[in-house]
Amino acid sequence: MHFHVAQLLKEGIGATRSYDVHEVDVVSDDGSRGLVEGSLSLLRTKSGILARATLRLRYPDVCSRCLTPIELPLELHIEEEYQTTVDVLTGAASPRPEDPSAFLIDEHHVLDLTEAVRQYRVLAVPMQPLCRPDCAGLCPVCGQNLNESTCACPRDEYDTQWSALAKLAQRESGDN
Ligand SMILES: [Zn+2]
Ligand SMILES: [Zn+2]
Repeated sequence: MHFHVAQLLKEGIGATRSYDVHEVDVVSDDGSRGLVEGSLSLLRTKSGILARATLRLRYPDVCSRCLTPIELPLELHIEEEYQTTVDVLTGAASPRPEDPSAFLIDEHHVLDLTEAVRQYRVLAVPMQPLCRPDCAGLCPVCGQNLNESTCACPRDEYDTQWSALAKLAQRESGDN
C-alpha cells in the first residue's frame, strides 16, 4: 500500500490529503491476499506525515474450537507518524529519528502503509477466534464436528472426570 507524498511534503505543515482505499493486499502472515477497504488521511507535520486510516479486511483463520476455516472481519484504526528520510526540497538526508522503530518515508518520498497494517492486524486478531459464538466444537473422543452432527460417544466423560475430582477434593477438605 504505497502512497507518493512528495507533493504533500512540499506543501508544508498542515497540508492534507485523503484517499479512499480499495485494493487487494496481503491480509495475513501466510501471505494470503484479499480486499482491503477504507479511508486514509495524511497530514503534513514538522518532521513527516501523520497517517490516519480506518481499514477493513477479512482475515483468514481457523475456528479455535472446530478448526473450520473462517474469515474474520477486522477493522483497523491506524494512527502513525511517518518520518522523512530525505528533505523533499533539498535532497539532503533528514536527521534519523531517535526511535529505531519509527515508520519512515523512503528516499523516493513513498509512504508505505504495509508494515503498520501488519502490526495493527496482529493486535486485532483474537487469540481464540470462533466460527460463531456458540460453536459446539469437536468431539474430544472421535473428532466429529458437533456443529454438523452428533456422535455416539459418551457425552459426559469429561464432566465425570471433573466431578470425581471435585468429590475427592470435597472429601479431603472434610477430613481436615
Ligand atoms: Zn467453530
Ligand atoms: Zn464422538
